[in-house]
Amino acid sequence: MSLKQKLADIRHSLAFRLSLWYAGVFLLIAIVAFFFFYLLITTVLRQQTDQDLISEVRTFSSILAVQGTEGVKQQALIESQAAGEKKIFFRLLTISGQVFSSSNMSYWRDIGINRVRIQELLRDQRSVFDTIRIPDRRHQVRVLYAVIGPGVILQLGRSMENHTHIIEAFRKIFVATTVLLLVVAVGVGWFMARRALSGVARIAGTARRISGGSLDERVPVKKQQDEIDQLALTFNQMLDRIQQLVNEIREMSDNIAHDLKSPITRIRGTAEVTLTTGQSLAEYKNMAASTIEECDRLLGMINTMLMISRTEAGLGQVQRKQMDLAAVVRDACELFRALAEEKRVDLQCHCPAHVFICGDIRMIQRMIANLLDNAVKYTPGGGRIEVTLDAGSDRTVRLAVRDTGIGISPEDQPRVFDRFYRCDPSRSRPGTGLGLSLARAIARAHQGDVILESQPQQGSTFLVLLPLPADAEPVCP
Ligand code: ADP
Repeated sequence: MSLKQKLADIRHSLAFRLSLWYAGVFLLIAIVAFFFFYLLITTVLRQQTDQDLISEVRTFSSILAVQGTEGVKQQALIESQAAGEKKIFFRLLTISGQVFSSSNMSYWRDIGINRVRIQELLRDQRSVFDTIRIPDRRHQVRVLYAVIGPGVILQLGRSMENHTHIIEAFRKIFVATTVLLLVVAVGVGWFMARRALSGVARIAGTARRISGGSLDERVPVKKQQDEIDQLALTFNQMLDRIQQLVNEIREMSDNIAHDLKSPITRIRGTAEVTLTTGQSLAEYKNMAASTIEECDRLLGMINTMLMISRTEAGLGQVQRKQMDLAAVVRDACELFRALAEEKRVDLQCHCPAHVFICGDIRMIQRMIANLLDNAVKYTPGGGRIEVTLDAGSDRTVRLAVRDTGIGISPEDQPRVFDRFYRCDPSRSRPGTGLGLSLARAIARAHQGDVILESQPQQGSTFLVLLPLPADAEPVCP
C-alpha cells in the first residue's frame, strides 16, 4: 500500500475523526476557559489599581485639608519621583479644568484633560475613572478624576504596565499549556479510539475472511463483555445461524437432487428398455403409463413444494370458512381405516360431535391426511394409532395423532419439519419428505402449530393446535 493510500485510509478512519473531535472539543473548552480567566484577571487587576488610586486620593485630600495645595503638590512630586515619572503622574485642576500644578508631564504629554469626565465628576460628586490607550505604547493608563477639596480636582494617572506583564505571562503560559495538552489530547484520543475500535477491526477482518469463502471463521471474543464483545458474540451467533442455514440448504438441494433423480432414472430406464427390446404396442402403452405415473409423482412433489412456499408466505391461499373439524377428522379416520387394517394396525378415533373452527377445509384435510398417512406408514403391524380431538377451555383446539410406531430420535425431531428431510437417509420407504413441512405450514397459516413428542421404538405424537373462534364471531375473518 502506498504512503498516499495509507494517509487517505487514516484520514477516513473513525479513530482519526474521533481524535479530531476530541481535539476540537478540548480546544473550544480551553478557549472559553481562557476567555473567562482573562476577564477575571483583568477585572481583579483593574479593581486593585482603582483601589490604589482611591487610597491615594484620600491621602491627597487629607494633605490638602491640612497643608493646602502646596502640601499636595509636594506630596505628589515625591510620589511620582519615588514610583518613577513614567509610572505615575498628577495634575491639580480648577473646577473649570485649568491646570494649576502638575508633576513632570513630558512623558505623559499625550494625555489631556477629559472635560466630559470632569462634568460627570461634578454632576455625580463621585470619583470618575478612565482607561486610556496611547498610540505606539504597549501599556494602557488608568486615570482618576476626583475632587479633593473645595474647588480642587485631582487628575491622577497610573501606568498599567504591571497588568500587561501579568496578562502577557498568563497568555504565554496558556498557549504553551494548551498546545501541550492538545498534543496529549490528540494522542490519548487516538490511542483510546484505536483501542475501542480494535474490536470492530477484528470483526471486519473475520467478515473479510468469510467473504473470501471460509464460513468456519469466528471472531475471537475477549472476557470483558463490553459492547464490542457483545457485538462479536452477536456476530458469531449470526454466523452460526447462517452456517446452519447454508448447511440445511445444501442438504435440501442434495435431497431434491436425489428425489428427482430416482423417478427420472426410472423413466429413462423404462424408455430405453422399451426402445431396445419392445416390439408390441402393449409394451409401448405400458411405458407411456409408467411415464405418466412417474410424471404425476414428480408434479405432485413440485406442487406440494409450491403449496408450502405459498402457504408460508401467506399468499392468499387460505380461504377460511366455518367448518366442522370433528366431521373432517372422522372422515379422515374412515378413509385411512382400510389402509391401517391392511397393515394390521388398530386405528381409533375419539371426537366430540362437533368442533367448529374457521379454516380452509381442503388444507385442513390435507394436513390431517399427511399425519395419518405417516402414522400408518411408520407403525408396524400389531401397532395402534389413536386420533383424539378436543376443544379446550383456553380457546384452543387440540388434535393429537398418536402412534406406537418406530418413533423419531431426539436428533431428528427438530428437523422432521424441514422440507425434504427424512429420518431414513437410505429413503427405503416411499415418501417425499414434504408431508410434515406442509402440515406445519398449514397449521401456522391458521395461526396454529404442530408439536412433536416422540420416543424411538415407542411411538410418536403429533399435536396440532388451532385457535377456536370466539362465540361472538359469527363469520370467519
Ligand atoms: P415423508 O414423505 O418421508 O413421510 P414427512 O415430511 O411426512 O415426509 O416426514 C418426514 C420424516 O419424518 C419421515 O421421513 C419420517 O422419517 C419421519 N416421520 C414422520 N412421521 C412419523 C411417524 N409418525 N413416526 C415415525 N417417523 C415419522
